[in-house]
Amino acid sequence: MTFEQLGLSQSVLQALSLKGYETPSPIQQQAIPYVLEGRDLLGIAQTGTGKTAAFMLPSIDRLVAADKRPQRRCCRMLVLAPTRELAGQIAQSAQDYARFAHLKIATVFGGTSVNRNRQDLARGVDILIATPGRLVDLTDQGALDLGQVEVLVLDEADQMLDLGFIHALRQIVRMIPKQRQTLFFSATMPKAIKDLASQYLTDPAQVSVAPAATTAERVEQYVCFVNQAEKQALLGIVLRDGFKAGEMDRVLVFTRTKHGADRVVRKLAQGGMRANAIHGNKSQPQRERALGEFREGQVRVLVATDIAARGIDITGVSHVINFELPNVPEQYVHRIGRTARAGREGVAISFCATDERDYLRDIQKLTRVTLDKVELPENFRAEVEMVAARTPQAERAREEERDARPPRQGGGNRRPRRTAEAKPRGGSGSGASGRPAGNSGNASRPGGNRRRRRSGGGSAPRA
Ligand code: AMP
Repeated sequence: MTFEQLGLSQSVLQALSLKGYETPSPIQQQAIPYVLEGRDLLGIAQTGTGKTAAFMLPSIDRLVAADKRPQRRCCRMLVLAPTRELAGQIAQSAQDYARFAHLKIATVFGGTSVNRNRQDLARGVDILIATPGRLVDLTDQGALDLGQVEVLVLDEADQMLDLGFIHALRQIVRMIPKQRQTLFFSATMPKAIKDLASQYLTDPAQVSVAPAATTAERVEQYVCFVNQAEKQALLGIVLRDGFKAGEMDRVLVFTRTKHGADRVVRKLAQGGMRANAIHGNKSQPQRERALGEFREGQVRVLVATDIAARGIDITGVSHVINFELPNVPEQYVHRIGRTARAGREGVAISFCATDERDYLRDIQKLTRVTLDKVELPENFRAEVEMVAARTPQAERAREEERDARPPRQGGGNRRPRRTAEAKPRGGSGSGASGRPAGNSGNASRPGGNRRRRRSGGGSAPRA
């Protein structure tokens, strides 16, 4: 199957050849013909599958074929994404794919100048990529009119709901004409998403690729049981001495909270190891710098929260380290999906404290993968003492106090659908992502993950 056979225009084909794409990915093969026909679409696919091109390429052709000019303060195609980083990435792809199509493209998301957004929209645009919060602000101010939208794309709908954007979403869709094409993408299909899709889509074609649980199976997954207070020492050893085969050249470390991410970075620095943090409290330039240094390989460790890492496409993450396990098992799948991109194998290591065992159980149930247990390294005790010795006294006192408190959500398995840094509404989604690095290494190597019984062939996991 080639892009030509999918019926795309010469201008799009030319742009694809500049990008070096040769073969359409499975989601592109399935989705592009439907979108070209003008059908509504329900796509079950994660970031990394090529879904942006799946909706963007045929839409570019349809917008060009319709041969209309955007009216003032209007857009013809609206793409909604949950985070600014994802919106930025989609916009970059749109620019690349529409390079020869002469369409006007704009992006609006929180953390950027509203005045600039207003100027960008003043004369109307063909394609607008936005996060819901900022979009509502602009429509409230009269800077944007959604009455001329021909194509609506909801990207990462499950994440949009998790981030509390449902209200903004409803408000936005009410402003868009009913007569439109709607393309709806989600990595998971829990009932709330199905209900939303059925409200917004008319007789949709349904396409689905690499359900999250399947993606997870491509990653070597390990778990190491360790006290919460001693995780920093374990991280130090793993980053310094390596873990398993292969270079740890880009390591993405996940924490549950923003403060947790900052603490890990600070403590790595105390041990002489450079890392960047990326989370919702960081400014846009800080995030961009952190991501840039990680991409360029200047800093091999990036510490991120879930939301910050959502949807970020950085190739070459060698290892994902779950410094803390997520309390929502689907987040685990999204996290480890940062490695093993584009069909490559990756390695994920989870540091599991006693009060996280229920999370681990939920994760194993969802992915139907039993994580391979690795023992603590031989030099672990010595490292714990070294980390304690270089921690300033005041900081140690605070940590001891914190460790003495019962865990915030207990080891409980009931999960709030929102993570610690999610902000409903407001400026926009937050977050970015990145990945850390390490080297290669030691530790026992118990072979691949044992896969548990799988029923049928790869339906989307429940959420
Ligand atoms: P996405 O899932 O849309 O975020 O895409 C993931 C990555 O795959 C992006 O870096 C795209 O540029 C790249 N990509 C998308 N489609 C193709 C293709 N057909 N061939 C090669 N790379 C692709």
